Amino acid sequence: MADSKNYSIVTLGSHSALQILKGAKDEGFKTIAVVKKGYEEPYRSYRVADEIISIDQYPDFNKLEQQLIDKNAILIPHGTLFAACSVDQLKQNKMLYFGDKQVLELEESRAKQRQWLLESGLTMPKIFDKAEDIDSPAIIKFNGAGGGKGYFLAKNKAEFDEKMQEHKDTKYIIQEYIIGNPIYVHYFYSPLNDELEIMSMDKRYETNVDSIGRISAQDQLDLHLQTSYNIIGNIPIVARESMLAEFFRMGRQVVDRSKELTNQGMFGPFCLEMVVTPDMEYFVFEISARIVAGSNPYVDGSPYTALRYSEPMSTGRRIAREIKNAIEQDKLDEVTG
Ligand code: AMP
Repeated sequence: MADSKNYSIVTLGSHSALQILKGAKDEGFKTIAVVKKGYEEPYRSYRVADEIISIDQYPDFNKLEQQLIDKNAILIPHGTLFAACSVDQLKQNKMLYFGDKQVLELEESRAKQRQWLLESGLTMPKIFDKAEDIDSPAIIKFNGAGGGKGYFLAKNKAEFDEKMQEHKDTKYIIQEYIIGNPIYVHYFYSPLNDELEIMSMDKRYETNVDSIGRISAQDQLDLHLQTSYNIIGNIPIVARESMLAEFFRMGRQVVDRSKELTNQGMFGPFCLEMVVTPDMEYFVFEISARIVAGSNPYVDGSPYTALRYSEPMSTGRRIAREIKNAIEQDKLDEVTG
């Protein structure tokens, strides 16, 4: 069995599936895309999937469990999978899964995630427990909000109450809004050789916050425009080189702490999402313990992977390379849950 040809890589056809499947093919795996009906064309057109399985809706993915086990398929998680399946469903699914499923719970609960990051020594924006406590600009975030949809800003309780009218009965948190530049750093940690890599970085392209500056401040006021953070794409970034050492330190601290919190610890791709202030302070507001769509601009590798590898290395391909290495070293259980 110690041959990647005996395994298939499967993922939901969405989010970052194109680079995951392309990378898997480059590493010699068979590939399967499970796609919602009507969304098959990209996976056909780009020839990344050896097999396309169409389902009516994403939660139907669980019904394919036995069929995919029979194909020796290894599931690569991404954001759409988490949006479609609950943590319980994913934990019950007996397919080979790339990652430590215990990390899912750390990531899913905002409280546990915050504790993990703070205990790792990272700086985070303040949380206001209730609207009365807002004494500086705050961003209001909703649970499970797909890519920042609906987030809004408020500078006091009155503004919060007014804007919250549209979001009744929705769970939220109120976080200090950090003035600075958002940057999303994409890492890869290998438990096989204990190496932490920085694969790439991005910033988000969000509507309407990234277009609101195209009209004058007066027009913004006249039109009663509110900012929203609905993501529509990702823009590559290369950071000032002197920031890299700190990024490596932060990534390593989070990995080290995760090993104390779960059996295997976090491994594979993850992303620290932060705002850097003019004083060069790094405020991490979230971690994604998996591949992020911000790595999609780098299907052919990034400036950072070009330094580390002498071949195109996307995050998707790096995942497949890790699985292939694990198979060859008879350590597949060290990278699957
Ligand atoms: P997210 O969906 O958590 O990635 O955040 C959506 C958008 O809100 C991104 O543009 C972030 O840069 C921005 N954002 C999130 N949290 C904060 C914060 N505490 N301060 C400033 N901007 C933030």
